[in-house]
Amino acid sequence: MTEWQHQAEAVAELIATSQRVLIFTGAGISTESGIPDFRGPDGIWQKYDPDDFTIEKFLSDEEVRKRQWQMLSSGDLAMLKAQPNAAHYAITELNSLGKLYGVVTQNVDGLHQKAGVPEDLVFQLHGNLSRAVCLGCGRRYPMETVAGWLNQGMADPACHFCMGMLKPDAVLFGEQLPSKILLESERRSRSCDVCIVMGSTLSVFPANLIPQYARQAGATLVIINLGPTEMDQMAHIRIEGKAGEIASLIIQYVKSKLGENHD
Ligand code: NAD
Repeated sequence: MTEWQHQAEAVAELIATSQRVLIFTGAGISTESGIPDFRGPDGIWQKYDPDDFTIEKFLSDEEVRKRQWQMLSSGDLAMLKAQPNAAHYAITELNSLGKLYGVVTQNVDGLHQKAGVPEDLVFQLHGNLSRAVCLGCGRRYPMETVAGWLNQGMADPACHFCMGMLKPDAVLFGEQLPSKILLESERRSRSCDVCIVMGSTLSVFPANLIPQYARQAGATLVIINLGPTEMDQMAHIRIEGKAGEIASLIIQYVKSKLGENHD
């Protein structure tokens, strides 16, 4: 067995003997689905100005809003068409095995739900870009619907019911995180048995508190990531590599362990 396989086996043992496994994901889990990160060489910020993505500018500047909608309708955002990868499906399998306590994600791509994790187990700390929200009445629209309006020439779309301002349903810079989701994520992190981080540098506050809460409350912390993270020294098990390959291997081991226990 390679060191990698040993580590995957150890994580599988933890899962097999746990009731409440909390998964915490970041942009890295979706790169295998073709979604670039924001700051890499092919990232969105190479083409667009991050300053345009503050809530203050969105509310006050019609031209900023038009640029954001134009970015969403121009097809630049691969995430609207992306499909889940092996890592997302491995997490869905954890749910089928009765082990998943929740997925707390920083991602706005909706791929955990697309992979089959029930909506009430996914806690999207930064919102979901596959929807738009009306800032007047709170009504939500599928992004495809809004994209249709944009393609018909509506540059700064408004709610069809109250004519309120529409905003992509992702958290902009300077915007509060959704408080109910943050609170529930915190509650689950403080009461999970194992917290597994996948594809995050753990550098974005306050999302990065979630694995810390889990660790402080006595859970076992596992980090699976390509490259270093801010919390490597806190991890009980740190696996360096691609989330898709590692998560698939872990699930394979979990299944064989659960099979063994049932024999
Ligand atoms: P990050 O960019 O800070 O860290 C991603 C980490 O994942 C990096 O260390 C990278 O090396 C690693 N990685 C890349 N591919 C990997 C793979 N296949 N397997 C394992 N690790 C891999 O991401 P973050 O911590 O989520 O913070 C970035 C912020 O940007 C978040 O707030 C997030 O909301 C947002 N964002 C979201 C998406 C998305 O929804 N898919 C995409 C880009 C950025």
